[in-house]
Amino acid sequence: MQPKIFDLCIIGAGMYGSAAARHASAHSAVKVCLIGPSEPKEDERETRDILSSHYDEGRIVHIAYASPVMQVLVRNTIKRFREIEKLSGINIFSPVGTIFTAERDTSFFYKLLQGFEMHDVNYIDLSKEDIMKQRFPYLKLEDCDHPLFADDRAGYIKARGMVEAQKKIAHLQGCHIVDDVAEEVKDFKDGAHQIITKKGHVLKAKKILFCTGAFTAFKKFDPLKKKLKIQVKRETAVMMRISEGEKNRLGSMPTLMMYRDNLADMPAAAKGAYILPPIRYPDGHWYLKIGHMGIQRNSELNTLEEIKEWYKSDGDQEVLDKYSKFLIGIIPGLKVEEVKGKTCVTCDSPSDLPYIDRISPTVTVAVVGNGRGATICDEVGRIAADLSLTGKWNSELPQKLFEAIFI
Ligand SMILES: Cc1cc2nc3c(=O)[nH]c(=O)nc-3n(C[C@H](O)[C@H](O)[C@H](O)COP(=O)(O)OP(=O)(O)OC[C@H]3O[C@@H](n4cnc5c(N)ncnc54)[C@H](O)[C@@H]3O)c2cc1C
Repeated sequence: MQPKIFDLCIIGAGMYGSAAARHASAHSAVKVCLIGPSEPKEDERETRDILSSHYDEGRIVHIAYASPVMQVLVRNTIKRFREIEKLSGINIFSPVGTIFTAERDTSFFYKLLQGFEMHDVNYIDLSKEDIMKQRFPYLKLEDCDHPLFADDRAGYIKARGMVEAQKKIAHLQGCHIVDDVAEEVKDFKDGAHQIITKKGHVLKAKKILFCTGAFTAFKKFDPLKKKLKIQVKRETAVMMRISEGEKNRLGSMPTLMMYRDNLADMPAAAKGAYILPPIRYPDGHWYLKIGHMGIQRNSELNTLEEIKEWYKSDGDQEVLDKYSKFLIGIIPGLKVEEVKGKTCVTCDSPSDLPYIDRISPTVTVAVVGNGRGATICDEVGRIAADLSLTGKWNSELPQKLFEAIFI
């Protein structure tokens, strides 16, 4: 049987790939295909080697980035959240706001403040009078942490919901969705590409867009030619199950980004903590989530086998012990029913930006989130879809910043 031929095949149905599929398939004349495995069920995990960074309910989003480049990417992403919700019928964004903290009177604090001012981020200084007590009476931050509350386009999105919503809209626009892993991508002499999947499907595409995140280096992708410089890292998040009553008590809780060396007595490479308010997970329970910013110890992952093992584990016990204690400390009286670890991976680039690059006229990449890919996913997907379809860089940002770096 002749393989199906698509104008564009996007490999990787994650946060970038699903966004790219939505934008590419908005052009009705273009035949688009999106290949990526859906999330494995508990009993399928053992057999899966390709997972993702988005199997979760909460990803913090905000516009309080000091970097002007991030400003463009996040603002253009966040402004489309309501459109995505409307088109898909799936709720993704909870604009609960974000409390940022940094150590009082440090240069880091003033840099944070300068970023807020420079980019017109609306915020309230919670250290003034007793505003903190009135707005968030259940939170008791440590005296060294100066809190600023930004409720302008800040809160969290459901990562799974975002991917589902993007895929749903793409499908409604005619995108062909294949629930499978691309095991091999080959070049044809006629300039097109062949994709062979784990379940044995063979597809043909004139153009390929790789959105394979932290898993990009691990399958046989001939069109990439060289290995991209991507550092894959272990991440442990701490899930703290609470009752419905506790969830109600913390009803107005925002997300928190707490920047401080040695926070929770963690080693210096961990640069603080991010915290998600109570969110209902698919098991029906409410969880608070806390994780580290910066790097956890022994973070680097180099093979698919190591990644698989990491996902099967409970995570780093030190992160679990110290961060759960820290969160209980800043929410006095918090009643926790269970603490468990959630393992995940992120990937970083030396430029601290995603690679969005057309590495040949038919091959484009949109990979690397540097721990904040959720916040910029729709804009990265849009730029990448345009670039692979037209060859044109459709953004006010300089294209050079996003060039792929190879080993
Ligand atoms: C614990 C944790 C907390 C985080 N918190 C935040 C946060 O608060 N805010 C924020 O903005 N970001 C956060 N992130 C980062 C964010 O989730 C990632 O940056 C984002 O998911 C990256 O999007 P992506 O599309 O590049 O990768 P992914 O979302 O991982 O998508 C890649 C997809 O490609 C698929 N794939 C890979 N290889 C193949 C193949 N061979 N064939 C087919 N499909 C393939 C995978 O299955 C996956 O679905 C966090 C990440 C972690 C792990």
